[in-house]
Amino acid sequence: MKKGTKLYSVLKLKCPRCHIGNLFNNPGFFVFTRILEMPDKCPHCKQDFKLEPGFYTAALWISYPIVLLIFIPVIILGYSLDSINGFFKIIFPFIVLFSFMLQIPLMRIARAVLLTMTIDYTTKW
Ligand SMILES: [Zn+2]
Repeated sequence: MKKGTKLYSVLKLKCPRCHIGNLFNNPGFFVFTRILEMPDKCPHCKQDFKLEPGFYTAALWISYPIVLLIFIPVIILGYSLDSINGFFKIIFPFIVLFSFMLQIPLMRIARAVLLTMTIDYTTKW
């Protein structure tokens, strides 16, 4: 993936300004401790991550359309497969498990998207 694009910052969970520092103290999508713990500033370029009080509340409105984009096709697929001998009833527990597994990555992606929308990439800092 090309460094300098907004997608790079979001998918690698890197600082949107330098694309080097990690956004989270415990990096990665599938973590189970310190899920939303972020440093106050980027460890590399010192970009402030706590832009204003309650800044990350808006991340809820970022994650909502992402959830819709993922689950509307899953629900439509489920209903269409249900006509085939109740197949949907068999895979329903897996869909629930899949939903829980996506929770942490979605929260992190939503924060990364929000920061990336606010802060532009630059090579000078
Ligand atoms: Zn940075």
